[in-house]
Amino acid sequence: MQFETKCLHAGYSPKSGEPRVQPIVQSTTFTYDSAEQIGDLFDLKAAGFFYSRLSNPTTNVIEEKITALEGGAAALATSSGQAAIFYALLNILESGDHFISSSSIYGGAFNLFAQTFKKMGISVTFVDPRLPLEELQKSIQPNTKAIFAETIANPELVVLDIEKFAKLAQQAEIPLVIDNTFATPYFCRPIEFGANIVVHSTTKYLDGHAVALGGIIVDAGNFNWKNGKFPQFTQPDESYHGLVYTENFGNLAYIIKARVQLMRDLGATPAPQNSFLLNLGLETLPLRMEAHYNNALKIAEFLSTHSAVNTVSYPALANHPDYALKQKYLPNGLCGVISFEIKGGKEAATKWLNALKLVSREVHVADIRTCALHPATSSHRQLTEEQLEAMKISGGLIRISCGIENVNDILADIQQAFDSLN
Ligand SMILES: *Cc1c(COP(=O)(O)O)cnc(C)c1O
Repeated sequence: MQFETKCLHAGYSPKSGEPRVQPIVQSTTFTYDSAEQIGDLFDLKAAGFFYSRLSNPTTNVIEEKITALEGGAAALATSSGQAAIFYALLNILESGDHFISSSSIYGGAFNLFAQTFKKMGISVTFVDPRLPLEELQKSIQPNTKAIFAETIANPELVVLDIEKFAKLAQQAEIPLVIDNTFATPYFCRPIEFGANIVVHSTTKYLDGHAVALGGIIVDAGNFNWKNGKFPQFTQPDESYHGLVYTENFGNLAYIIKARVQLMRDLGATPAPQNSFLLNLGLETLPLRMEAHYNNALKIAEFLSTHSAVNTVSYPALANHPDYALKQKYLPNGLCGVISFEIKGGKEAATKWLNALKLVSREVHVADIRTCALHPATSSHRQLTEEQLEAMKISGGLIRISCGIENVNDILADIQQAFDSLN
């Protein structure tokens, strides 16, 4: 099946007389004919649904569908993107371990790594993703167990050189975890460039309609957990009578351990209703991403020639420093998020934002409706002037997430907001 067809058909094929659409299985539990059958499920000797914290038929559809879209081996859905990032790394790292993360990442992931993981005894080194491989290698320590980065960084729009990071991971014999939220598998499939694990905030483009929080971890099934660095996969799990993940589940050891240990113990499971809504969003992903990209490109071009604008950052513009990387890893398109700097600093930026009529003011991105944000007074409000400068967040910076309205209506709204500055 081609990508568009998978978006509609992967993960669910009804038999004669069954519903055409996977229903919302709003049941916490499932019944069996015998105690032995239930015992086998608990011992992981048989596969089947028994409690919705661990698996649910509606959620199973989106897990299989996104696995197919990313070209992975299996997936685990979570209740948010943050939970997906947390479990994806906690499934690898233990107290005393260290990992490397790109410094250009989502603020929520940054806090999780710098604060919460630190309290758990897991340390991180943030690296500039644009550094050459030889420089990045210097951050690898004997206890470094994973590498994390985003395909297109939110909100800085740095495009990752995935093959460079994959090489770094391969040399250190540790897995590469990629957050593919902004690219979506429609524009980039990191596993094809050497990623081992892909995570998403499905809250963004995969849902696309701003209706359901969610996350997912996709396991490529291509990492060798038996290389001596990861005893949690190769030594007996006493909570399952001494089961060994690599022996029992082969190349699915990682994702099965995430489900039967972490989801069992921590429980950030998605509601079946949200999985149903996510599935609806996935069905139109290719159409929506084409529309987001076409609109964003026209809006970025409009802004880059506008007299009221200093600079525009959108990697699909040929003058962007990551244009070559964009052409390599995302040859067919890009997300709808653009950042640009208005002349006149904070005062002009807030005035412009307040004058918008169609475009809404929101702390969200990747929605079908166009929205805009002034980072210096909202998402990055707590930072000092020096910190804002270090993060290149100027007073005039605006982040706009282009939706799929008719582009002329968006452009007219942007222009009338510029007119209000005079
Ligand atoms: C939004 C976002 C997250 C967090 O996801 P939630 O669903 O809000 O928990 C993680 N990574 C990226 C790149 C995001 O944009």
